[in-house]
Amino acid sequence: MNKFYPEKIFVEEEVEEFSMTKQIVERCKDVPVETVKSAKDLIASLREKRFPLSDGKKNLLLCRNRGRFLEPCPGTKKDYLCCGYVILNTGTGCPLDCSYCVLQAYLNNPFITLFVNRQEMMDELLSGPILGRGKVTRIGTGEYMDSLALEHLTRFIPFILPFLRERPELILELKTKTTHVESLIDLDHGDSFVISWSLNAEKIRKEEEKGAAPVKDRIKTASLLIEKGYRVSFHFDPVIYYPGWEQGYQETIALLKENIPPEKIRWISIGSLRYMPGLKNIAQKRFSDTGIYSQEFIPGLDGKMRYLQGQRTEMYQKMCSWLKAYSADILIYYCMESKTVWERTLGFSPASNKGLKSILDRSF
Ligand code: SF4
Repeated sequence: MNKFYPEKIFVEEEVEEFSMTKQIVERCKDVPVETVKSAKDLIASLREKRFPLSDGKKNLLLCRNRGRFLEPCPGTKKDYLCCGYVILNTGTGCPLDCSYCVLQAYLNNPFITLFVNRQEMMDELLSGPILGRGKVTRIGTGEYMDSLALEHLTRFIPFILPFLRERPELILELKTKTTHVESLIDLDHGDSFVISWSLNAEKIRKEEEKGAAPVKDRIKTASLLIEKGYRVSFHFDPVIYYPGWEQGYQETIALLKENIPPEKIRWISIGSLRYMPGLKNIAQKRFSDTGIYSQEFIPGLDGKMRYLQGQRTEMYQKMCSWLKAYSADILIYYCMESKTVWERTLGFSPASNKGLKSILDRSF
Protein backbone atom coordinates (compact mmCIF):
# COMPACT_ATOMS: atom_id res chain seq x y z
CA MET A 1 0.00 0.00 0.00
CA ASN A 2 1.11 3.56 -0.68
CA LYS A 3 2.88 5.52 1.98
CA PHE A 4 1.72 8.95 2.97
CA TYR A 5 3.71 12.00 1.94
CA PRO A 6 2.17 15.39 2.68
CA GLU A 7 1.49 18.06 0.08
CA LYS A 8 3.01 20.57 2.44
CA ILE A 9 4.77 20.61 5.80
CA PHE A 10 4.09 23.36 8.30
CA VAL A 11 6.74 23.79 10.97
CA GLU A 12 6.12 25.77 14.09
CA GLU A 13 8.94 28.28 14.47
CA GLU A 14 9.81 27.08 17.94
CA VAL A 15 10.71 23.57 16.73
CA GLU A 16 12.47 24.48 13.48
CA GLU A 17 15.87 23.40 14.80
CA PHE A 18 14.72 20.19 16.52
CA SER A 19 16.43 17.10 15.14
CA MET A 20 13.16 15.26 14.52
CA THR A 21 11.89 18.22 12.48
CA LYS A 22 14.98 18.13 10.32
CA GLN A 23 14.80 14.37 9.86
CA ILE A 24 11.16 14.43 8.79
CA VAL A 25 11.74 17.30 6.36
CA GLU A 26 14.70 15.37 4.95
CA ARG A 27 12.55 12.24 4.51
CA CYS A 28 9.92 14.24 2.62
CA LYS A 29 12.20 15.39 -0.18
CA ASP A 30 10.62 17.97 -2.52
CA VAL A 31 7.71 18.64 -0.18
CA PRO A 32 7.34 22.42 0.37
CA VAL A 33 7.94 23.55 3.92
CA GLU A 34 6.50 26.66 5.55
CA THR A 35 7.50 27.95 8.96
CA VAL A 36 4.67 29.39 10.99
CA LYS A 37 4.81 31.48 14.14
CA SER A 38 2.09 29.64 15.92
CA ALA A 39 0.46 26.25 15.31
CA LYS A 40 -2.61 27.55 17.12
CA ASP A 41 -3.21 30.36 14.59
CA LEU A 42 -2.60 28.01 11.67
CA ILE A 43 -5.13 25.52 13.04
CA ALA A 44 -7.67 28.31 13.63
CA SER A 45 -7.37 29.48 10.01
CA LEU A 46 -7.87 25.95 8.64
CA ARG A 47 -10.90 25.42 10.84
CA GLU A 48 -12.65 28.28 9.04
CA LYS A 49 -12.60 26.35 5.74
CA ARG A 50 -15.52 24.26 4.51
CA PHE A 51 -13.76 20.88 4.83
CA PRO A 52 -10.99 21.48 7.35
CA LEU A 53 -10.39 17.79 7.98
CA SER A 54 -10.12 16.78 4.35
CA ASP A 55 -7.62 19.62 3.79
CA GLY A 56 -5.80 18.93 7.05
CA LYS A 57 -5.26 15.30 6.11
CA LYS A 58 -3.15 16.34 3.12
CA ASN A 59 -0.69 18.34 5.19
CA LEU A 60 1.68 17.72 8.04
CA LEU A 61 2.20 19.97 11.02
CA LEU A 62 5.33 19.61 13.13
CA CYS A 63 5.02 21.20 16.51
CA ARG A 64 5.58 20.81 20.19
CA ASN A 65 3.30 18.90 22.50
CA ARG A 66 2.55 21.32 25.31
CA GLY A 67 0.39 18.83 27.13
CA ARG A 68 1.16 15.45 28.57
CA PHE A 69 2.56 12.60 26.52
CA LEU A 70 1.14 9.92 28.77
CA GLU A 71 -2.45 9.66 29.85
CA PRO A 72 -4.70 6.87 31.03
CA CYS A 73 -7.10 5.83 28.27
CA PRO A 74 -10.24 7.85 28.99
CA GLY A 75 -12.29 4.70 28.35
CA THR A 76 -15.85 5.65 28.97
CA LYS A 77 -18.26 5.91 31.90
CA LYS A 78 -17.98 3.25 34.56
CA ASP A 79 -21.04 1.44 33.22
CA TYR A 80 -18.88 0.13 30.35
CA LEU A 81 -15.73 -1.87 30.95
CA CYS A 82 -12.47 -0.44 29.68
CA CYS A 83 -9.16 -2.35 29.35
CA GLY A 84 -7.12 0.28 31.19
CA TYR A 85 -4.20 0.96 28.96
CA VAL A 86 -2.05 4.06 28.84
CA ILE A 87 -1.99 6.33 25.82
CA LEU A 88 1.35 7.57 24.54
CA ASN A 89 0.70 10.71 22.55
CA THR A 90 3.12 10.94 19.63
CA GLY A 91 0.83 13.11 17.52
CA THR A 92 -2.74 13.43 16.32
CA GLY A 93 -4.59 12.86 13.08
CA CYS A 94 -4.28 10.14 10.49
CA PRO A 95 -3.66 9.92 6.73
CA LEU A 96 -6.20 7.11 6.49
CA ASP A 97 -9.80 8.23 6.35
CA CYS A 98 -12.43 6.00 7.94
CA SER A 99 -16.01 7.21 7.82
CA TYR A 100 -16.53 6.05 11.41
CA CYS A 101 -13.36 7.61 12.82
CA VAL A 102 -14.15 9.29 16.12
CA LEU A 103 -11.27 11.70 15.64
CA GLN A 104 -13.35 13.61 13.09
CA ALA A 105 -15.46 14.92 15.94
CA TYR A 106 -12.98 14.60 18.77
CA LEU A 107 -9.97 16.61 17.63
CA ASN A 108 -9.93 20.38 17.28
CA ASN A 109 -6.86 20.20 15.11
CA PRO A 110 -7.55 18.98 11.56
CA PHE A 111 -3.87 18.66 10.56
CA ILE A 112 -1.91 15.45 10.70
CA THR A 113 0.33 16.52 13.51
CA LEU A 114 3.54 15.10 14.89
CA PHE A 115 5.05 16.16 18.17
CA VAL A 116 8.76 16.65 17.65
CA ASN A 117 9.82 17.47 21.23
CA ARG A 118 10.94 13.92 21.77
CA GLN A 119 13.35 14.77 24.56
CA GLU A 120 10.41 16.00 26.62
CA MET A 121 8.57 12.81 25.79
CA MET A 122 11.51 10.79 27.06
CA ASP A 123 11.74 12.91 30.21
CA GLU A 124 8.11 12.18 30.92
CA LEU A 125 8.47 8.48 30.16
CA LEU A 126 11.45 8.24 32.49
CA SER A 127 9.79 10.07 35.33
CA GLY A 128 6.14 9.22 34.56
CA PRO A 129 4.45 8.01 37.74
CA ILE A 130 1.84 6.45 35.44
CA LEU A 131 4.36 3.76 34.50
CA GLY A 132 4.94 2.16 37.89
CA ARG A 133 8.04 0.00 37.64
CA GLY A 134 7.55 -3.73 38.04
CA LYS A 135 3.87 -3.49 37.10
CA VAL A 136 2.76 -4.77 33.70
CA THR A 137 1.62 -1.74 31.75
CA ARG A 138 0.23 -1.74 28.26
CA ILE A 139 0.91 1.49 26.39
CA GLY A 140 -0.55 2.35 23.02
CA THR A 141 0.11 4.94 20.33
CA GLY A 142 -3.00 4.11 18.31
CA GLU A 143 -5.56 6.24 20.09
CA TYR A 144 -5.23 9.49 18.13
CA MET A 145 -3.64 8.13 14.96
CA ASP A 146 -2.73 4.86 13.24
CA SER A 147 0.43 3.61 14.96
CA LEU A 148 2.30 2.67 11.76
CA ALA A 149 0.88 4.96 9.04
CA LEU A 150 3.62 7.56 9.59
CA GLU A 151 6.42 5.28 10.79
CA HIS A 152 8.41 5.82 7.55
CA LEU A 153 8.59 9.52 8.51
CA THR A 154 8.97 9.28 12.28
CA ARG A 155 11.05 6.08 12.76
CA PHE A 156 9.53 6.02 16.22
CA ILE A 157 9.97 2.27 16.73
CA PRO A 158 13.80 2.16 16.67
CA PHE A 159 13.77 5.35 18.75
CA ILE A 160 11.66 3.94 21.58
CA LEU A 161 13.06 0.40 21.56
CA PRO A 162 16.08 0.96 23.87
CA PHE A 163 13.75 2.44 26.49
CA LEU A 164 11.36 -0.50 26.22
CA ARG A 165 14.09 -3.12 26.26
CA GLU A 166 15.17 -1.96 29.68
CA ARG A 167 11.61 -2.27 30.95
CA PRO A 168 10.21 -5.72 30.20
CA GLU A 169 7.07 -4.89 32.17
CA LEU A 170 6.07 -2.29 29.54
CA ILE A 171 4.37 -3.49 26.39
CA LEU A 172 3.82 -1.08 23.55
CA GLU A 173 0.79 -1.90 21.45
CA LEU A 174 1.03 -0.65 17.88
CA LYS A 175 -2.44 -0.58 16.39
CA THR A 176 -2.77 -0.29 12.62
CA LYS A 177 -4.76 -0.83 9.45
CA THR A 178 -1.63 -0.73 7.32
CA THR A 179 1.07 -3.11 6.17
CA HIS A 180 3.88 -0.67 6.97
CA VAL A 181 6.07 -2.97 9.02
CA GLU A 182 9.45 -2.35 7.39
CA SER A 183 10.99 -0.95 10.55
CA LEU A 184 9.85 -4.03 12.49
CA ILE A 185 11.03 -6.77 10.16
CA ASP A 186 14.71 -7.00 11.06
CA LEU A 187 14.51 -5.48 14.49
CA ASP A 188 15.94 -7.19 17.55
CA HIS A 189 12.65 -6.36 19.28
CA GLY A 190 13.05 -8.22 22.55
CA ASP A 191 9.32 -8.88 22.82
CA SER A 192 8.67 -5.23 23.58
CA PHE A 193 5.69 -4.84 21.25
CA VAL A 194 2.29 -6.24 20.46
CA ILE A 195 1.32 -5.47 16.90
CA SER A 196 -2.43 -5.20 16.52
CA TRP A 197 -4.50 -5.01 13.41
CA SER A 198 -7.99 -3.63 13.30
CA LEU A 199 -10.02 -6.03 11.21
CA ASN A 200 -13.34 -5.72 9.52
CA ALA A 201 -15.41 -7.26 6.78
CA GLU A 202 -13.72 -6.56 3.43
CA LYS A 203 -16.87 -4.75 2.22
CA ILE A 204 -16.52 -2.30 5.13
CA ARG A 205 -12.83 -1.89 4.35
CA LYS A 206 -13.63 -1.02 0.74
CA GLU A 207 -16.50 1.32 1.48
CA GLU A 208 -15.64 2.87 4.83
CA GLU A 209 -11.86 2.69 5.40
CA LYS A 210 -10.31 4.93 2.77
CA GLY A 211 -6.58 4.37 2.40
CA ALA A 212 -6.44 1.27 4.62
CA ALA A 213 -4.84 -1.99 3.49
CA PRO A 214 -7.11 -4.82 2.30
CA VAL A 215 -8.04 -7.10 5.20
CA LYS A 216 -6.23 -10.04 3.61
CA ASP A 217 -2.99 -8.02 3.41
CA ARG A 218 -3.25 -7.04 7.08
CA ILE A 219 -3.59 -10.69 8.08
CA LYS A 220 -0.72 -11.78 5.80
CA THR A 221 1.46 -9.08 7.32
CA ALA A 222 0.55 -10.31 10.81
CA SER A 223 1.61 -13.80 9.77
CA LEU A 224 4.95 -12.43 8.54
CA LEU A 225 5.57 -10.72 11.87
CA ILE A 226 4.68 -13.86 13.80
CA GLU A 227 7.51 -15.56 11.89
CA LYS A 228 9.75 -12.80 13.19
CA GLY A 229 8.74 -13.60 16.75
CA TYR A 230 6.29 -10.75 17.36
CA ARG A 231 3.21 -10.98 19.50
CA VAL A 232 0.09 -10.03 17.58
CA SER A 233 -3.51 -9.24 18.36
CA PHE A 234 -6.61 -8.20 16.47
CA HIS A 235 -9.45 -5.81 17.02
CA PHE A 236 -12.80 -6.31 15.34
CA ASP A 237 -13.74 -2.76 16.04
CA PRO A 238 -16.08 -1.40 14.95
CA VAL A 239 -18.24 -4.32 13.95
CA ILE A 240 -20.78 -2.74 11.63
CA TYR A 241 -24.18 -4.08 10.75
CA TYR A 242 -25.21 -4.30 7.10
CA PRO A 243 -27.42 -6.82 5.29
CA GLY A 244 -25.21 -9.89 4.92
CA TRP A 245 -22.75 -8.78 7.63
CA GLU A 246 -22.51 -12.35 8.92
CA GLN A 247 -20.90 -13.59 5.74
CA GLY A 248 -18.49 -10.63 5.58
CA TYR A 249 -17.17 -11.15 9.10
CA GLN A 250 -17.05 -14.94 8.75
CA GLU A 251 -14.89 -14.51 5.66
CA THR A 252 -12.44 -12.40 7.66
CA ILE A 253 -12.34 -15.00 10.45
CA ALA A 254 -11.76 -17.68 7.80
CA LEU A 255 -8.74 -15.67 6.60
CA LEU A 256 -7.43 -15.61 10.16
CA LYS A 257 -7.88 -19.37 10.34
CA GLU A 258 -5.95 -19.90 7.10
CA ASN A 259 -3.03 -17.70 8.08
CA ILE A 260 -2.63 -17.36 11.84
CA PRO A 261 -2.16 -20.18 14.35
CA PRO A 262 -4.58 -19.19 17.12
CA GLU A 263 -2.04 -19.79 19.91
CA LYS A 264 0.00 -16.91 18.49
CA ILE A 265 -2.77 -14.40 19.14
CA ARG A 266 -2.57 -12.48 22.40
CA TRP A 267 -6.15 -11.31 22.34
CA ILE A 268 -9.02 -10.33 20.09
CA SER A 269 -11.22 -7.44 21.03
CA ILE A 270 -14.68 -6.78 19.69
CA GLY A 271 -16.58 -3.54 19.74
CA SER A 272 -19.67 -2.52 17.83
CA LEU A 273 -20.07 0.81 16.06
CA ARG A 274 -20.51 3.65 18.55
CA TYR A 275 -20.12 7.39 18.22
CA MET A 276 -20.71 10.71 19.88
CA PRO A 277 -23.85 12.25 18.34
CA GLY A 278 -21.84 15.09 16.75
CA LEU A 279 -19.92 12.65 14.56
CA LYS A 280 -22.85 11.65 12.37
CA ASN A 281 -23.27 15.07 10.74
CA ILE A 282 -19.57 15.56 10.18
CA ALA A 283 -19.11 12.09 8.70
CA GLN A 284 -22.18 12.24 6.47
CA LYS A 285 -20.98 15.55 5.02
CA ARG A 286 -17.53 14.13 4.34
CA PHE A 287 -18.67 10.69 3.12
CA SER A 288 -21.86 11.20 1.16
CA ASP A 289 -22.09 7.46 0.29
CA THR A 290 -21.78 6.08 3.78
CA GLY A 291 -24.74 4.07 5.01
CA ILE A 292 -23.40 3.12 8.42
CA TYR A 293 -25.29 5.79 10.32
CA SER A 294 -28.70 4.88 8.92
CA GLN A 295 -29.32 1.98 11.33
CA GLU A 296 -31.24 2.40 14.56
CA PHE A 297 -29.09 3.68 17.43
CA ILE A 298 -29.81 4.67 21.01
CA PRO A 299 -27.77 6.88 23.30
CA GLY A 300 -25.84 4.84 25.84
CA LEU A 301 -25.13 5.78 29.44
CA ASP A 302 -21.97 7.56 28.25
CA GLY A 303 -23.89 9.62 25.67
CA LYS A 304 -22.49 7.62 22.74
CA MET A 305 -24.87 6.23 20.17
CA ARG A 306 -24.92 2.44 20.01
CA TYR A 307 -26.95 -0.29 18.32
CA LEU A 308 -29.81 -1.47 20.52
CA GLN A 309 -28.63 -3.84 23.21
CA GLY A 310 -30.50 -6.81 21.69
CA GLN A 311 -28.81 -6.26 18.34
CA ARG A 312 -25.38 -5.83 19.93
CA THR A 313 -25.86 -9.00 21.93
CA GLU A 314 -26.83 -10.96 18.83
CA MET A 315 -23.88 -9.64 16.85
CA TYR A 316 -21.44 -10.43 19.67
CA GLN A 317 -22.87 -13.91 20.19
CA LYS A 318 -22.33 -14.67 16.54
CA MET A 319 -18.84 -13.14 16.43
CA CYS A 320 -17.84 -15.09 19.56
CA SER A 321 -19.19 -18.39 18.24
CA TRP A 322 -17.25 -17.99 14.96
CA LEU A 323 -14.08 -17.04 16.85
CA LYS A 324 -14.49 -19.86 19.36
CA ALA A 325 -14.90 -22.31 16.48
CA TYR A 326 -11.51 -21.07 15.25
CA SER A 327 -10.08 -21.65 18.73
CA ALA A 328 -11.80 -22.13 22.07
CA ASP A 329 -8.75 -20.70 23.85
CA ILE A 330 -8.60 -17.28 22.28
CA LEU A 331 -8.79 -14.45 24.79
CA ILE A 332 -11.74 -12.35 23.66
CA TYR A 333 -12.72 -9.10 25.30
CA TYR A 334 -15.11 -6.28 24.53
CA CYS A 335 -14.14 -2.70 24.15
CA MET A 336 -16.48 -0.44 26.12
CA GLU A 337 -19.33 -2.82 26.73
CA SER A 338 -21.65 -3.28 29.67
CA LYS A 339 -21.38 -6.16 32.13
CA THR A 340 -24.80 -7.35 30.98
CA VAL A 341 -23.57 -7.81 27.44
CA TRP A 342 -20.43 -9.60 28.68
CA GLU A 343 -22.50 -11.98 30.77
CA ARG A 344 -25.05 -12.68 28.05
CA THR A 345 -22.49 -13.40 25.37
CA LEU A 346 -19.37 -14.69 27.11
CA GLY A 347 -20.99 -16.09 30.22
CA PHE A 348 -18.95 -13.95 32.60
CA SER A 349 -17.93 -10.39 33.19
CA PRO A 350 -14.87 -8.87 34.84
CA ALA A 351 -15.96 -7.23 38.08
CA SER A 352 -14.44 -3.88 37.10
CA ASN A 353 -12.03 -2.14 34.73
CA LYS A 354 -9.23 -3.39 36.97
CA GLY A 355 -10.47 -6.94 36.50
CA LEU A 356 -10.39 -6.58 32.70
CA LYS A 357 -6.95 -4.96 32.86
CA SER A 358 -5.56 -7.82 34.90
CA ILE A 359 -6.99 -10.44 32.51
CA LEU A 360 -5.09 -8.78 29.67
CA ASP A 361 -1.95 -8.15 31.73
CA ARG A 362 -1.89 -11.82 32.75
CA SER A 363 -1.59 -12.80 29.10
CA PHE A 364 2.02 -11.55 29.38
S1 SF4 B 1 -7.15 4.30 10.90
FE1 SF4 B 1 -8.00 4.79 12.92
S2 SF4 B 1 -7.25 6.87 13.33
FE2 SF4 B 1 -6.99 6.52 11.15
S3 SF4 B 1 -8.84 7.33 10.19
FE3 SF4 B 1 -9.19 5.13 10.55
S4 SF4 B 1 -10.20 5.03 12.55
FE4 SF4 B 1 -9.27 7.07 12.39
